[in-house]
Amino acid sequence: MAGLGQAAPMPHDHSDHPHALLPSEPALRVKALETILVRKGLIDPAALDEIIDTYQNKIGPQNGARVVARAWSDPVFKAALLADADTVLAELGYYGRQGEHMVVVENTPEQHNMVVCTLCSCYPWPLLGIPPGWYKSDAYRARAVRAPRAVLAEFGVTLPAETSVRVWDSTAEVRYLVLPMRPAGTDAMEEEDLLALVSRDSMIGTALAALPAAALPPTTAPPTTNGAQT
Ligand code: FE
Repeated sequence: MAGLGQAAPMPHDHSDHPHALLPSEPALRVKALETILVRKGLIDPAALDEIIDTYQNKIGPQNGARVVARAWSDPVFKAALLADADTVLAELGYYGRQGEHMVVVENTPEQHNMVVCTLCSCYPWPLLGIPPGWYKSDAYRARAVRAPRAVLAEFGVTLPAETSVRVWDSTAEVRYLVLPMRPAGTDAMEEEDLLALVSRDSMIGTALAALPAAALPPTTAPPTTNGAQT
């Protein structure tokens, strides 16, 4: 964030200032808007709290992970999901607010998919819950499109040179879910066990699905016991 034309001042420590107790400017604007809407009787604060609690605590990436694990396990389901996600997701009940028009994009050895909302923070809530802070950040929104490989590298993802990266820009009309590649060494795994390999970030495209512990060769495990002595 340093240097926007002028000499960047040292980060200002607000912790001992009275104004540190106030919310940041966007939060203030949101609070002001909420207050006006409540006063006008247009919204019910209890209903707002319920919505936030639902998406924060009751719905989360586990819904998306269930869809991915099933797609890995069931080719008919996967084909239907890729052809018409809305219908399939509605049947599962993973539908509704902020997830009305879903498109599922499949990672392959040829193409890796990554999702951003360059305008704001559109995100498939019914499948992934509330978006992470970095997804809403200016840095991610600007750089995911311009320098996707650099962004992926910062997330610890390095793709083979022959894999192209396609960035999908979410809008209020269309939300995307990435179907990550099923990791090698998982052929014998059941759908229920595959769930644990599907992270939120892997469904945004900023991570790959995790390898199962059993597939990791012991030699790649970091030293945990006597590594410090040698
Ligand atoms: Fe948006």
